[in-house]
Amino acid sequence: MHNASADHQPQPVAIQHVTILGATGTIGVQTLDVISQHAERFKVFALTASTNVKGLFDLCKQYAPQYAVMLHSEAAAELAIQLKAIGSNTIVLQGEDALSEVAAHEQVDVVMAAIVGAAGLHPAMAAARAGKRILLANKETLVMAGNLFMQAVAEGGATLLPIDSEHNAIFQVMPHQRSKHLADMGVKRVLLTASGGPFRHASLAELQAVTRAQALNHPNWVMGPKITIDSATMMNKGLEVIEAHWLFNASPAQIEVVVHPQSVIHSMVEYIDGSVLAQLGNPDMRTPIAYGLGYPDRLASGVGSLDLLKIGQLDFCAPDPMRFPCLRLAYEALTAGGTAPAILNAANEIAVEAFLAETIGFMDIPVIIESILSASQIEEVASIEQLVAVDAQARQSATRWLKNRS
Ligand code: NAD
Ligand code: MG
Repeated sequence: MHNASADHQPQPVAIQHVTILGATGTIGVQTLDVISQHAERFKVFALTASTNVKGLFDLCKQYAPQYAVMLHSEAAAELAIQLKAIGSNTIVLQGEDALSEVAAHEQVDVVMAAIVGAAGLHPAMAAARAGKRILLANKETLVMAGNLFMQAVAEGGATLLPIDSEHNAIFQVMPHQRSKHLADMGVKRVLLTASGGPFRHASLAELQAVTRAQALNHPNWVMGPKITIDSATMMNKGLEVIEAHWLFNASPAQIEVVVHPQSVIHSMVEYIDGSVLAQLGNPDMRTPIAYGLGYPDRLASGVGSLDLLKIGQLDFCAPDPMRFPCLRLAYEALTAGGTAPAILNAANEIAVEAFLAETIGFMDIPVIIESILSASQIEEVASIEQLVAVDAQARQSATRWLKNRS
């Protein structure tokens, strides 16, 4: 008799060693969730965090990585003491350089880049130069240093897989036979979907009065505080437009943002023959994470089936540039090119921090960014060192702006 089960023996796969930058964050934790479901394929090599000792301690206990990295020295010392007390073999390292070391280590195959903000740039660059498979959640790397990062990926022989759900969706529905130019693949444009955030229907007057708690309450996704505020201002979509430009070599005119409140269609690609291909699914980051981990294979992620009958209806509308000026500012920075997106990103990070600290209002965020951008000299991008200096200067200008106002 034919033995069906013998035909379906899973092929043994080589174990992949994974570094997770930003392991205690929402993306980090969801990555570990997917990895736990595939213990035969993945081994955690290194886990990193900035200050959350308790969070990283719990993860080290569970995943026994070779290395744990904390950004700050006191946090690293505390973690080392706690791990020693339970007889753990994990080696604790400290500081920015150590983040890059565990991203580029020769024993590492896969790097999940899930640090939030500009702080993620150096370790992501290190992973690119070392030719790793990079699962890129940290969109700020591409916003700040898109051309240098893409160049490092190419020169280092790295494999870049976008984890941002929109870009992961676009990646999934692009032709497998890649060309550098969208036109060569018959692609007309990409359509980035946006939930519209919690203030989709808010009037300008209501937006002025938005509180921290209201802005932190995203309708569809559970995310870290910075990206949650970015989603509420729609700067997140603006950063994603710039991200799409670098990932898919799309011009600003080839990237359209469509508000789609249900967050079921994660993005689309329109071809010259009129076909529009979309990727759909429940809004759960474990889907793009599993795609990145398994590529080109498909891995179970723990995400439930999409129940279209329950969803019933999919809606679309245009974003409103009057109520969401951050989206316009991002398009302008992309069009200006050079160091403009890095300045936009730095000013945004300072403005979001100030809003989270409740020292400025919600609609001050775009005002600060626009004022810093218009007062800055835009230069061609030549090096990472230059971008680090530009980032620092834009942060200083934004901080000074805030001081002068208070
Ligand atoms: P988070 O705030 O939940 O976690 C951030 C992680 O980065 C933490 O582990 C923290 O310890 C670490 N970190 C923070 N500052 C650091 C620094 N200066 N140096 C080193 N490490 C530092 O953020 P998140 O929601 O997981 O987002 C991470 C990245 O992924 C962001 O760039 C975000 O835009 C992107 N992203 C997130 C989602 C999501 O659903 N959460 C979706 C798409 C893209
Ligand atoms: Mg996204």
